[in-house]
Amino acid sequence: MADGSCAHISGVKNVLGPKQHACDECVKIGAKWVHLRTCQSCGGTHCCDSSPNRHATKHAKASGHPVVASAERGERWLYCYPDEAFAEY
Ligand SMILES: [Zn+2]
Ligand SMILES: [Zn+2]
Ligand SMILES: [Zn+2]
Repeated sequence: MADGSCAHISGVKNVLGPKQHACDECVKIGAKWVHLRTCQSCGGTHCCDSSPNRHATKHAKASGHPVVASAERGERWLYCYPDEAFAEY
């Protein structure tokens, strides 16, 4: 793992990809999103902070699930919310 990773990111052995290229929460409410992140604790896919509803951040705070992976094609990175740590894989 790259510099700046934390124990949460180091604990991710097999990175979970998105089950679908859609934000689970935005689909429910009919909202739009910009980019997608996949929770590495439960596999849920949610929208990024550039999206109006910021569901990935809300999910991390509400659930205590720390690490997301980018769900964008061609992007290979992990982010830990509590540690604000970032790592490519
Ligand atoms: Zn962490
Ligand atoms: Zn969303
Ligand atoms: Zn989760």
